[in-house]
Amino acid sequence: MKAVRFVETGRPPEIVELATPTPGPGQVLLKIAGAGVCHSDLHVLDEDMGMKGPFTLGHENAGWIAGVGGGVDGWKEGDPVAVYGPWGCGRCRTCQSSAENYCENHASIPTFGGGLGSDGGMAEYMIVPSPRLLVPLHGLDPVQAAPLSDAALTPYHAIKAALPLLTPDATVLVVGIGGLGHMALQILQALTPATVIAADIDDEKLAHAKQLGARHTINTRDGQAAAEAISAIAGARGITVALDFVGAQPTVDLCAGVVGRNSRLTVVGLGGGTVQYAANRPPYGCQVTIPYWGSRTELMEVIALAASGRIRAHTEVFKLDQAVEVYQRLREGKINGRAVLVP
Ligand code: NAD
Ligand code: ZN
Ligand code: ZN
Repeated sequence: MKAVRFVETGRPPEIVELATPTPGPGQVLLKIAGAGVCHSDLHVLDEDMGMKGPFTLGHENAGWIAGVGGGVDGWKEGDPVAVYGPWGCGRCRTCQSSAENYCENHASIPTFGGGLGSDGGMAEYMIVPSPRLLVPLHGLDPVQAAPLSDAALTPYHAIKAALPLLTPDATVLVVGIGGLGHMALQILQALTPATVIAADIDDEKLAHAKQLGARHTINTRDGQAAAEAISAIAGARGITVALDFVGAQPTVDLCAGVVGRNSRLTVVGLGGGTVQYAANRPPYGCQVTIPYWGSRTELMEVIALAASGRIRAHTEVFKLDQAVEVYQRLREGKINGRAVLVP
């Protein structure tokens, strides 16, 4: 089968032929319908994220069960499923609560999940190490569903934790309207009555944000002018919740400068920015959070939101062979919504 492989930091991914894997005891073989192309892969490809290659990329996966190993029951060939991406130990207290994204034993597990240290879904088939990592799709098209497992789950987890602050009089700032940000806008509208401001450096992304229902859009190329415009909209209370899906120094500084007292600054993007602290900046009462991915039950909730038509990943579909070109387009900001590779 064809697969898109991470080889080592600083090298483009390689498209190679591999033998189709066979599921061992307790494992599931998945026929991949689609694998989302996440910006985190660019961090893995370009920076040293501590992952050793080679392995098959793709950590936003959905498809159909193609075979099960010994001891796996309750699933049958052809069942459409999404793969829950952050693979924990499955045994610790946190994993048992379904939040494998915060597994207590993460330091002793050699992979972050399929596509992030071990073989993922940018291939015709993928091994899922345990059926506990599968979530049924409830009628969703698996190609459309693939990005839900990260591009929607990650913002869902961040937003759900902020819900007590997202009242009708609150203003929420979403920075970075790419794969995660375009889902965040929809999730905010599905779950909250707060006023939404979308921010990006790319006017096309902002036009997309408008289509997705953002009340205000701000281009942040001029950081000072953007901060003033955002503060003018938010009023004396300031931004109640800032969601930074870039995480670079300029965006972290922007968010820290516009949040009000008793607010929440959530940094999701891995852009390498640092949140500085001095008395009352960020303002008193601000909770700074660094959420990672989401829990399995939250993925079930995300799939329910999508199955009921309240959120939808806007996808650009490509063939596996186009992976190198797709990563380059993502690097240049030329993907609208989420790219999905289809074998
Ligand atoms: P993406 O490339 O699809 O979107 C990024 C968006 O940010 C683009 O619209 C781009 O125009 C915009 N942008 C870039 N620089 C900007 C700046 N300085 N100011 C304002 N906007 C800017 O990326 P994505 O797949 O949505 O991922 C976003 C980030 O989230 C990445 O850093 C990724 O690694 C990270 N991520 C984190 C988690 C987590 O659990 N913490 C999970 C998934 C992704
Ligand atoms: Zn990701
Ligand atoms: Zn665990």
